[in-house]
Amino acid sequence: MAILPLTAVAMKLNELNRMTEPLGKTSKMPVLFLGHGSPMNAIVENEFVTGFRNIAKGLPKPNAILCVSAHWETKGTFVTAMQNPPTIHDFGGFPKELFAVQYPAPGSPDLAKETKSLITKTEVGLDEKWGLDHGAWSVIKHLYPNADIPVIQMSIDYSQSPQYHYELAQQIKSLREKGVLVIGSGNIVHNLGKVEWRRLNETFGYDWAIEANEKMKNFILDGNHKELINFRSQGKAFDLAIPTAEHYLPLLYSLALQDSKEEIELFNDKAVAGALAMTSLKIG
Ligand code: ZN
Repeated sequence: MAILPLTAVAMKLNELNRMTEPLGKTSKMPVLFLGHGSPMNAIVENEFVTGFRNIAKGLPKPNAILCVSAHWETKGTFVTAMQNPPTIHDFGGFPKELFAVQYPAPGSPDLAKETKSLITKTEVGLDEKWGLDHGAWSVIKHLYPNADIPVIQMSIDYSQSPQYHYELAQQIKSLREKGVLVIGSGNIVHNLGKVEWRRLNETFGYDWAIEANEKMKNFILDGNHKELINFRSQGKAFDLAIPTAEHYLPLLYSLALQDSKEEIELFNDKAVAGALAMTSLKIG
């Protein structure tokens, strides 16, 4: 019998654990918030894509992924519960090759049910119709190009307050100890009405975009979640950065899972096209 190095034995044991105990107890999984930006980031090479790949290299291999994407808003909260979520091309006016992208990661009905059982704040619906929208697949495909990690999405209830979303997210904290990588996917500065579309590939931000990005980063690094939840009281720069909340709220979902004193690493911290910030973070 060949003698395997210890690391190989550990890897095989990990694989075995994943097979026999899909949601068994693990060490605490980090949490991500990813600024996804333009859907084109799914198929181009740039510094942000490199940033996504690099952050994935430092993560333990997850058992499954739960993604809260800016692009799935519903009345009430739902989780995708199908075995094979379709790749949704929820955008228009982009090249054919973007519409051709498929991200065939399996779903996880087990994780969907477990998420539903953890959340008592509301009745979570098990969804069979959505799938993976570009807020999820355009970034997750760079983290796990082999599409071999099961992915579910959780929707954002558009009728609820920021405080509600933060508290709801806290109820799924224990998933971190079951090898689940939670990813919030949005953009902390996202004003499409002010984006300079012809300069989509240029890294620059308007004064208000830079100001909002800097203030948000300070609140994030200080663990000052209260000010981030109260984003509507932060003045003009925040109002311009967050004209509608859907791209910002995934940040609150990620931060709600942070334990006190847990470290945060910022990356892709740049503005593009004047009115978007790609700022992303890893918690833990
Ligand atoms: Zn988006």
